[in-house]
Amino acid sequence: MKLLIMGPPGAGKGTQAKILSSKFNLIHLSTGDILRSEISKGSSTGIEAQSYMNAGNLVPDKVLLAMMETTLKNLNDKGLILDGFPRTIPQAEGLNTILKNNSQELDAVISLTADENELVERLIKRGHDSGRSDDTPEIIKQRQEVYWKQTSPLVDYYIDKNILIEIDGIGSINEIKNRILESLNSHA
Ligand code: AMP
Repeated sequence: MKLLIMGPPGAGKGTQAKILSSKFNLIHLSTGDILRSEISKGSSTGIEAQSYMNAGNLVPDKVLLAMMETTLKNLNDKGLILDGFPRTIPQAEGLNTILKNNSQELDAVISLTADENELVERLIKRGHDSGRSDDTPEIIKQRQEVYWKQTSPLVDYYIDKNILIEIDGIGSINEIKNRILESLNSHA
């Protein structure tokens, strides 16, 4: 099974991706985590990505596509949950091509929805707890804008492909998990 989870910053993608990965034995691929680890290694990808991430902007498509092409090739026949990639239409098209070349496809795309004010509050709290340098109020605002401009068009893109599952992301972690599991069941 190959899943994608998407939603605005703070919607709880990472938390739900971890739950789904252990429930269905899927490899959790978070491009944010991969990029943060490249930065801490000081690799050329990390160096290229850092200034974009600090500003709350997207790292260029070509960097993400090169990174994910290699990663996905090595995990060809494995169950996966993609978290944070694709984030633009060109990335989605690139992902399609990469999967098609390996005779694979996405089974479902989970889109978490949530009210923007609630999300900003959650992220400011996370910034206090996690110390993530891009969880400051100004950068959060920028990341939200980037989501609505560049990533939200993927919702229609995956509706057209008939694989979008929209989930209300407001509630407890457990409630949201149960909504996702019910929808996946009826989608299958
Ligand atoms: P996240 O941990 O998913 O919130 O990602 C943190 C940051 O990493 C984002 O604000 C972007 O700067 C960068 N990033 C992660 N995934 C992508 C992607 N698919 N395309 C471009 N930039 C990304």
